[in-house]
Amino acid sequence: MIDVSFFENDLYSVEIQKLEKLLKPNSSIEVAIKREDLIHDRVSGNKFRKLKYNVIEAKNQKQETLLTFGGAFSNHIAAVAKAGELCGFETVGVIRGKELGDNLLQTLQQNETLKFANACGMKLHFVSRSEYREKHAASFYENLKVEYGDFYLIPEGGTNNLAVKGCAEILNSDTSSYDVIACAVGTGGTIAGIIEGSLSHQKVLGFPALKGDFLKEEIKMYTSKTNWDLINDYHFGGYAKVNSALISFINSFKEKHNIQLDPVYTGKMMYGLTELIENGFFSENTRILAVHTGGLQGISGMNEKLKRKGQSLIV
Ligand SMILES: *Cc1c(COP(=O)(O)O)cnc(C)c1O
Repeated sequence: MIDVSFFENDLYSVEIQKLEKLLKPNSSIEVAIKREDLIHDRVSGNKFRKLKYNVIEAKNQKQETLLTFGGAFSNHIAAVAKAGELCGFETVGVIRGKELGDNLLQTLQQNETLKFANACGMKLHFVSRSEYREKHAASFYENLKVEYGDFYLIPEGGTNNLAVKGCAEILNSDTSSYDVIACAVGTGGTIAGIIEGSLSHQKVLGFPALKGDFLKEEIKMYTSKTNWDLINDYHFGGYAKVNSALISFINSFKEKHNIQLDPVYTGKMMYGLTELIENGFFSENTRILAVHTGGLQGISGMNEKLKRKGQSLIV
């Protein structure tokens, strides 16, 4: 029985919290954070928003399996696995890294994300990096259909028109008085939805978590509005790359505000936003709303990596 009420029900009142300790005393600027991370611990933040209308569509199409793609630490994989379990779908995750499948037990012991996905009942299908790059080929899908039967396909990272429609709901009447909306950017689906949901007096600022000149064009595929910009200075060397300044920022942010940020997306966004505020980027009396898009499930994987390199950990 497929039951998508987890997504349909509108009980997710998402708190907006002021971040007073981020500002100098007597600053006329206001900063707040919308806690989308509190929606659910795994179907978290923007991943809930991106899946909502896709899961409803899958049900309407009478599909019983969700299939998607991702890396071994992907927030999206964790979210799809849990969403499938909550709604009664079978799930298949096509995971980049053939070697991870060679010793599955060891992989599951060492990787929290895949362990979690597996525990939710997701079938993990490991492919080599070269096969993964060919994933849009028709033959790739045909082979997956032979193995898993018919499925509803959710693209890598979850971005499509229905995902953008869901992300537009991040903004609502509670957010209409803010002048600037800040969010992290991966594939661009989330910011496209936020732009679609924004009002004409609002400016949406995206902080890409990776190096990518292609992002502007991606975003323009999903929105024709122009009240947005990307700040490209805070990717920290690329996707999932971190340095000690970022880790210590995340730790001190938690200490000050009692809010956990993740190292891949929201930590970089908030680091950048804080620096822009300190550098006088925003005019007086600007009201800024940062969106906490979740992603906290990725912290343990990042800490494993940091531990191996002998670097300080996210606490
Ligand atoms: C996936 C993710 C993003 C990026 O979303 P896109 O729609 O791919 O741009 C941002 N923040 C968090 C926490 C994420 O997990």
